[in-house]
Amino acid sequence: MTTGLDDRQRAMLAEMGIRVWAPRAAARAPAADEQAAAPVAPQATPAGRSDATRPRAATSAAKPAPPPLPAATPPEHDPAQPAATLAPRPAGIESMDWAQLEAAVAACRACALCTGRTQTVFGVGSRRADWMVIGEAPGENEDRLGQPFVGQAGKLLDNMLAAIGLSRQADADDPVASDGTPTRQGVYIANVLKCRPPRNRNPQPDEIAQCEPYLRRQVALVQPRIILAMGRFAVQSLLNTSEPIGRLRGRVHQYEGVPVIVTYHPAYLLRALPEKAKAWQDLCLALEVAGRGASATASASASNPISDSEHQ
Ligand code: SF4
Repeated sequence: MTTGLDDRQRAMLAEMGIRVWAPRAAARAPAADEQAAAPVAPQATPAGRSDATRPRAATSAAKPAPPPLPAATPPEHDPAQPAATLAPRPAGIESMDWAQLEAAVAACRACALCTGRTQTVFGVGSRRADWMVIGEAPGENEDRLGQPFVGQAGKLLDNMLAAIGLSRQADADDPVASDGTPTRQGVYIANVLKCRPPRNRNPQPDEIAQCEPYLRRQVALVQPRIILAMGRFAVQSLLNTSEPIGRLRGRVHQYEGVPVIVTYHPAYLLRALPEKAKAWQDLCLALEVAGRGASATASASASNPISDSEHQ
């Protein structure tokens, strides 16, 4: 009996940090991250967003020291603050171009979250991407750095994307076809909310409602072939449902006419290692729906590379 995997599939799984079960392998010592993993939680909590991770390290000691980041814990917003600091969303979001949309988000004061943010977190990646990853809201590190999915959860997301040949590279890195036309490649990553909820609490319905037009416009501009919704709040917000992820996985949903595949948030996967196998299944389904990697999907479906015994 074999795992039925070729070297390429093994490499893809390795990128995701997933070990392949070997039938006759000696009893495996638990990996360090497994030992540290807490028991499976029902779902990613706001505190479990990528905030639990560290900021990126400096890349070269020879470079001058970068300016200090804003305080790690900016003053928290009290939702009971006077509404006088708020202002309506700008009109015409549905027809904005990228520059207009980004400027509108940066200046937005349509909900109380604007009062506690260090900066808005608009999105990152290729604006011509086939894939769009949508998470919940910025955490502490995202708020400081201005990017979604940073730290350990962001690293896991990058590994997951690398496993299917994608990265969050910007447009300039997209391959160019022989006729000089940029090919649709890569991934665009954004959150439902563009501002950090105070103390990483759960997003409120009115905040989601206020911010959703920005995301809707981002989706319209990117025109992805597939959306990967990560984490309970992103999933429930996009699909307008209160059903748990476990009941929504394995099906193709729709958002603004774009197929949506539901999966777990990387921060949750860091704590619930066995769920990585499900995340792999979700990625395979997304690949199939996006019309890419059909052979890999077929192989994965024919022989689940993750044995249950791997997690016992
Ligand atoms: S969360 Fe969205 S709606 Fe609220 S202030 Fe930030 S950008 Fe505006």
